[in-house]
Amino acid sequence: MTDSNRLPHALLLEGPPGIGKFALARALAQYIHCENRTDGDSCGKCPSCKQHESFNQLDTVYSFPILKSESASAVSDDLLPDFVDYLKKNPYMDFDNWLRALNNPNGQPVIYSAESASVIRKFSVTSYSKRFRILLMWLPERMQTECANKMLKMIEEPMSDSILIFVSDAPQEILPTIYSRMQRIKVRRLENREIASYLATVKHMPADEGEALAPMAQGSLLGADRLVKTSEASQVYFDLFVTLMRQAYQRKVGMLRKWSVDAAALGREGSMRFLEYCQRMLRENFIANLHVGSLLQMNGQELSFSSRFSPFINERNVERLLEEFSAARTDIAANGNAKIIFFDLAVKVILLLKQ
Ligand SMILES: [Zn+2]
Repeated sequence: MTDSNRLPHALLLEGPPGIGKFALARALAQYIHCENRTDGDSCGKCPSCKQHESFNQLDTVYSFPILKSESASAVSDDLLPDFVDYLKKNPYMDFDNWLRALNNPNGQPVIYSAESASVIRKFSVTSYSKRFRILLMWLPERMQTECANKMLKMIEEPMSDSILIFVSDAPQEILPTIYSRMQRIKVRRLENREIASYLATVKHMPADEGEALAPMAQGSLLGADRLVKTSEASQVYFDLFVTLMRQAYQRKVGMLRKWSVDAAALGREGSMRFLEYCQRMLRENFIANLHVGSLLQMNGQELSFSSRFSPFINERNVERLLEEFSAARTDIAANGNAKIIFFDLAVKVILLLKQ
C-alpha cells in the first residue's frame, strides 16, 4: 500500500493479543517515513528511521489508554515516557504489564475525551518531515464515547497527509460507525514452527523442548513467554525437590540447612508454588510405586528420577509427607520465617523417608 501510494486514512490492525500487532504498526510508520526504503523494508539508517527507533519521530503521535489523575484532563502525552519505557520492555504489549506501569493492577484504563482534541491539535500544525503525520493508537476499543465520536470525524473528514493506524485486541468493542470506516487487516496468530523458533533463538530453549511446548502458546509470543517462565520455574522446583530428597535420604543435615536457605530465596509466592509442586511430585511417586503407570503425569526428567525414588513413597509415609508439605505451605502463607519452615520440613522428611 505504501509503495503504490494507496495508504488508507484509517487503518486497523486487529487480532489476538501478543502476536506483534503494535510492533507491526510501528514498523509500518517507520517504513512510511523512511527516506531510503529498500526491498520492502525501511533502511534503519536515515534520520527518520533513527528517530522512529528512539521514539522521537515528531510526526508520529502515540495514543493509548491511561488512568485519569484526579486533577488534569488526562491525555496520553502525560504518560508518554512511561509508555515508551513500557514499549521497550514489552514489544508484544502485555496488558498486565501496562497496568503495573500505571501502578494499578486492577485498573480499567481508557482513552479520555481530551485525547481527540490533543491529536487534532498536533495534526493541525505543519508536519516536520516531507510527508504524513501518523497516529499510532493502541486499543481504540478503550476510547470514551466522546473521544470516539471526534475520532470518527477525523476519519470522515481526513486531514491531508494524515494516517490513523489503530491496533486492536477486541475489534468487536470498537464503535461500529468507526469500525466500518477503517480499512481492516487481520493479523494472524504465529505458526507453531515460528513459536518454536522464537523459543529456541530468542529464549535459548533446547530445540526439542521448544517444539514440544510451542502448540501451548496458541500462536502468541506472550503465550510463549509464559511457557518459558513456567518451564524455568519447573526446572528450579525439580532441582530443589531432588536435592531435598537425596540429602534427606543421606541425612545430610548441614547440607539441608543450606538447602532451606536456597528454597526460602524463592520468596513467599514462589515458595508456596514450590511446595505445591512437591506435593504433586509426592503423589505422582506414590502412584508410580503402585505401578499404575497409565495415571502418571510427569515429564522425562521427573520420570527418570521417579524410577529410583518412588519405592520410598509408600502407604506408610505418603499421607504424613503430604500433611507436612501442606502445613509448611500454610505457615509460609501466614508470613512465617521461610528458612526455619523449610529446615523444619527437611528434618521431618528425613524421618518420614525411612518409614
Ligand atoms: Zn530509513
